[in-house]
Amino acid sequence: MGTLQLEVVTPDKTVVSGEVEMAVCPGIEGEFGVLPKHVSLLSALKIGGLRYKVAGGKEEHVFISGGFADVNNDVLTVLAESAEMAQNIDTARAMAAKERAEKRVASHEEQVDTVRAEAALHRAVVRLQVAQFR
Ligand code: ATP
Repeated sequence: MGTLQLEVVTPDKTVVSGEVEMAVCPGIEGEFGVLPKHVSLLSALKIGGLRYKVAGGKEEHVFISGGFADVNNDVLTVLAESAEMAQNIDTARAMAAKERAEKRVASHEEQVDTVRAEAALHRAVVRLQVAQFR
């Protein structure tokens, strides 16, 4: 069936680099799958889970905090603001971030940036969801 190269890169590090049979990305307009021989594509990604399958291996899940996916010549490059493999997600940290953000969202103090707090809450909730696939 063939494979494609998957690269998941953040400003700090390369999170995934390898041959995969397929990948499913959290596109801003919905999930989309990428198989070998996919047409060229550039798409914005939302906060979500990216999953992929290595030949003969199990499905792996990665948290993506939004970014871009580029497909070209059997290379899928994901540039993400931050990303972690499900097994590397620190769930205690995500729970603490969730609680902190919930308090900020609920407090109606003027100096609280609600949009920012809601985004932090969303990242924490989705990290906890992706962490279940470890
Ligand atoms: P926090 O408030 O806990 O920092 P955050 O959503 O603000 O969470 P980000 O700005 O998305 O954090 O990420 C900052 C860095 O910390 C990135 O390198 C990211 O991979 C890492 N990171 C954040 N939360 C976790 C987590 N729960 N487990 C593992 N790495 C994390």
